[in-house]
Amino acid sequence: MLYFYILMRRFQFNDTRNLLSKLSVRRGWNALKVYSSFYLSRMTGKPIQWGYPISVSFEPTTSCNLRCPECPSGLRAFSRPTGMLEQSFFEKTIDEIHKDLLYLIFYFQGEPYLNPGFLDMVRYASDKKIYTATSTNAHYLNDKNAKKTVESGLDRLIISIDGTTQDVYEQYRVGGKLSKVVEGAANIVKWKKELKSKTPLVVFQFLVVKPNEHQVDDIRQLADEVGVDDVWYKTAQVYDYQNDPNQLIPELNHFSRYKKNSEGQYVPKNKLSNHCWKLWHANVITWDGLVVPCCFDKDAMHQLGNMKMQSFREIWNNENYRQFRKELMSGRRNIDICSNCSEGVKVWG
Ligand code: SF4
Repeated sequence: MLYFYILMRRFQFNDTRNLLSKLSVRRGWNALKVYSSFYLSRMTGKPIQWGYPISVSFEPTTSCNLRCPECPSGLRAFSRPTGMLEQSFFEKTIDEIHKDLLYLIFYFQGEPYLNPGFLDMVRYASDKKIYTATSTNAHYLNDKNAKKTVESGLDRLIISIDGTTQDVYEQYRVGGKLSKVVEGAANIVKWKKELKSKTPLVVFQFLVVKPNEHQVDDIRQLADEVGVDDVWYKTAQVYDYQNDPNQLIPELNHFSRYKKNSEGQYVPKNKLSNHCWKLWHANVITWDGLVVPCCFDKDAMHQLGNMKMQSFREIWNNENYRQFRKELMSGRRNIDICSNCSEGVKVWG
């Protein structure tokens, strides 16, 4: 039954059609260039990049209201500064990259709704016909924000909900209130109906960890009761997976990024092949303009450029980027962030 759920994300016809409607000739041509560069790089063993990112994650803020145990934002464990993305900087960057960009994720670390200009930025990107998505803990989806969210043109709203009872939910979402999350999701569903809007696609994202794995069926029932569009299960990244100090790695093998070896120790399931689609087609810009390879570089340890000083086009093929692509292709397991990431592994999330 569970495996069936993993395989069966509901096909979202309206969402797929909506995404395809954002595809211009230029964006399609760029995607083709990125795709062919990636496969040519794999065939030749040389890092080739002809296109620009198809997808970018922009960080609205590093601040967060919760204290989740495997999140550096929640644990206040960043060495980089905490702050808010400024609208003028955001707009300048979007102006530069929007013609090639298909997909914009308003999320990296932190809770996006804490940035007061967040939904105005969504509106700006949406007006440029970019597909927009965000992920939230849904503690700020009051009636007013829910209405504004639907009006902003946001295409996808992922709501983190990792339990169907308060005692289970708060074991990972430390400091969170399940009733607020459910109420926030219901507000969005209500305003979609009121405004006769097909967007955003509303998804419950359930991070499967040991304390909540017995509720993987219950979350579907809750989703149906609230009226959200789908449930997506996500596997958890555990930094210290050998010791698993917070006891998060689930017993349900399908939902784990780790498996036990013959000595009974956890090791990543990932074979860590020396290629990475994510590095080729996407990247991340922090609230203060640092460009990093992907969402696994949470503390921006691998800075490839700074958008406050250079253009995106300069950064995307600069020496740092070329070197990082080369290093990954010659020994991914030697790069700290790449040795414990899910890219390329066949598990959900
Ligand atoms: S951490 Fe993973 S996704 Fe990020 S660049 Fe390395 S291999 Fe790719």
